[in-house]
Amino acid sequence: MANPLKTKSRLAITLSRYVILMAFIIGIALSSAQVIYDFTSQDEELDATIQEIQKSSLPSAIRSVTTLDKSLANEIVVGLLKYEFIESAEITDELGITLSKSSKHISKTKTSWLTGLIGGTRKTYIENLSNPIYSNIPPGKLTIVINVDKFLETFYNRSSFVIISGVLRNIALSIALLLIFFSLITKPLENLAKTFKSIDINSNKELSVSKRHQHNELGALSDAGNYFLSRVNELISEKTKTQKRMTYLATHDDTTGLPNRYLFKQHLSKAMDSSDNESNAILFLDLDHFKNINDSQGHETGDAVLIEISKILARKISSTDLLARFGGDEFVILMESKETNREQAQKSANDLAQDIIKTLTQIIQTEGKIFHIGVSIGIVMFPLENTNEELLLRFADTAMYEAKNRGRKRAVVYQREMSTSVENKHQLEMHLHAAITSNQLEVFYQPQVDLTGKITGFEALLRWNHPERGLVSPLEFIPIMESNGLIIPVSEWLVNDVCEQITRWKVQHQWQTHWSVSINISTVHFYHQDFLSLFTSVLNRHRILPQELCIEITESIAIDNIAFSIERLNDIKKIGISISLDDFGTGYSSFSYLKNLPINTIKIDRSFIKELELREDDKAILTAINALAHSLRLNVIAEGVENIEQVNIAIQCGCSTFQGFYYHRPMTAGKLTELINNTC
Ligand code: C2E
Ligand code: CA
Ligand code: CA
Repeated sequence: MANPLKTKSRLAITLSRYVILMAFIIGIALSSAQVIYDFTSQDEELDATIQEIQKSSLPSAIRSVTTLDKSLANEIVVGLLKYEFIESAEITDELGITLSKSSKHISKTKTSWLTGLIGGTRKTYIENLSNPIYSNIPPGKLTIVINVDKFLETFYNRSSFVIISGVLRNIALSIALLLIFFSLITKPLENLAKTFKSIDINSNKELSVSKRHQHNELGALSDAGNYFLSRVNELISEKTKTQKRMTYLATHDDTTGLPNRYLFKQHLSKAMDSSDNESNAILFLDLDHFKNINDSQGHETGDAVLIEISKILARKISSTDLLARFGGDEFVILMESKETNREQAQKSANDLAQDIIKTLTQIIQTEGKIFHIGVSIGIVMFPLENTNEELLLRFADTAMYEAKNRGRKRAVVYQREMSTSVENKHQLEMHLHAAITSNQLEVFYQPQVDLTGKITGFEALLRWNHPERGLVSPLEFIPIMESNGLIIPVSEWLVNDVCEQITRWKVQHQWQTHWSVSINISTVHFYHQDFLSLFTSVLNRHRILPQELCIEITESIAIDNIAFSIERLNDIKKIGISISLDDFGTGYSSFSYLKNLPINTIKIDRSFIKELELREDDKAILTAINALAHSLRLNVIAEGVENIEQVNIAIQCGCSTFQGFYYHRPMTAGKLTELINNTC
């Protein structure tokens, strides 16, 4: 807060002070000049006056000297002394003898010091008294002594009037100027300053000056002040906007506009604080194979799908729930319970999860394209002992991974034991990197046979020779490789390895021209940009014929993005590589897709073969699949035949090609070479 203005520092006072000073200096200089000028003329006037006096008294004085007439001389001297300023007068004859002399006392005045200073207080005039007739006689003398101070008395009076009136004029002028400055400058400036000080930046109040000042400097100052205020207002509102945007960005996901992890954790923390007796849930959602959409359709489409999903999810939750996006394809829901009963709350969470899975698995349309989005959901109920927000989220994540491991598109509620299985998975993941560099991965081959048991081809199956755990199932490590991206280099390595093996068999004349090797394709690899070029380059490099390779894709890979899959499969077909639809019957089993997909073979899933001897419905399904495949000119392979009964029933149902332990188990390339050598 500024101090109140001090009187002496006010502008009007300062201005007046300068004006007074200047007026005094100039006034005194001018008055002094006038006095000095006057003074010099006073000297001349004195001389002239004395001359005049002398002139009038001269004839009588000459006569008194000539006649030595003392009384005449006396008369003259007395007459002269009548002049106030003549102090003494004397007439002497030619011999210097005084005829008459008289003087009077003139008392000292206040100004006599000044007169003394300027030129002396006395001045003596001596006039020769010579008779023109007796010019040879030396003259007498008339001596007059003047009191200059007395002579100058009127001059002094006049001058002091001039100086005093000058001073008074200056004082009057100064007061007038002071009032004018005060009313014209100081007061309006002070008012302006007061208004400026009282203005609240957020109000729209403006500075104003009275009408008469609108077009002068004060008007300009008030305009400048208003411009400054409006700029400050603009800057403040810009800054507020930026701050709001920054807070929003720090707490929200930019793509979907949903709260982010940070904001979610804040809400979670509050829910944990206030939920001692309640049952709440966190639902951790992870979209299945969402990366494929980004890889195959580009990130813009990926974002559009995410936005669509966020809208669907927002419609599903209740107004008290919180939906957040943690980045990537992870969404998290906080269900603050209305139930105090844990079981009931868990059921509500599970119902919501099932509803979400069902809705997302149905068609999602964005940008004119159709997507089927699988989602795996982990649920954790809380309050839970010895946890914090971070741990709860980790548990929900663990349950979500469990849902993925159990085959995706499902919801799993967190159990403490899951954390250990996740721990194992982490260890496996760490060892997997080493497995690749130290050649622990190996390709096994399982023969496929015809009705007579003759080999028609092979399926390549990946194996991991873990140094401590022995052979690890691909079902265990392939999902890990899919989630950390290792599946791409490993798949490329496997395709190369298979081709090298085929070449080796060819070179050793162990290969038959109608044989082919089927390679399982991971969904992540299928949607990868280099998928096609891998096959074209590998065929060139190893001089493998395209019909000697087959790719196996699952229904879900094909159906996740049907338009893209058809295009990609057609490209594969154009190269000449054949295509099998793996695990047929476990997924959508929609026959309508079959006729649109450019496939050559259907592999009936082992689940239909497993209890074939016992279940009539499986037989019926097998028969129907064979009939359909026949009408679409597709080959059929029955997978997982383990005994002769199964083979016979499968043959009755129309199957003519088999793959299963009954014939051959998957084996190393070395073992297979021995088998080929012995049987073919
Ligand atoms: P899949 O593609 O359905 O492969 C057939 C699986 O059935 C193989 O299991 C095979 O050993 C097993 N099998 C064959 N005949 C029988 C039988 O008579 N009885 C029984 N119980 N099982 C039989 P495997 O090798 O453990 O592979 C499991 C899955 O791992 C494969 O299922 C496939 O989805 C995946 N996989 C294996 N190798 C690869 C690979 O190189 N790449 C990719 N992406 N996935 C692979
Ligand atoms: Ca397969
Ligand atoms: Ca299969």
